[in-house]
Amino acid sequence: MNTMHSLALVGARNADPSARLVRQDFEEATRAASGGLPGAACRGADPELFFCSSEDAAERQFAERRAKQICAGCPVRDACLAGALERRERFGIWAGLTTQERRRLMSAESKQRAQAKAAGR
Ligand code: SF4
Repeated sequence: MNTMHSLALVGARNADPSARLVRQDFEEATRAASGGLPGAACRGADPELFFCSSEDAAERQFAERRAKQICAGCPVRDACLAGALERRERFGIWAGLTTQERRRLMSAESKQRAQAKAAGR
């Protein structure tokens, strides 16, 4: 992340107290996802990457790409995704998925379950 991005992100972080609360939840949840092991790849990363509050589309895209890169190599990704879906996380990048991508995944899983039920499986 370049200095301009860092400064802009810090400014955005300080401007939104509710986002700070969500980030705190994120840190606790990712700690839980790692099962106490030092596994979560986002530990120590800038939470602004996962909860970008910038109004600048380019900054949001940059943060999303970077968060997804971090998640791609995370050893607790499956547990993280399961937890995020169970809690129906409304904000942020979890297990490399945006809110919209998680919604699509839940919708697809729900359709599959309904089809399996209708087919008597
Ligand atoms: S999958 Fe991503 S958000 Fe989840 S614990 Fe790993 S790095 Fe953090």
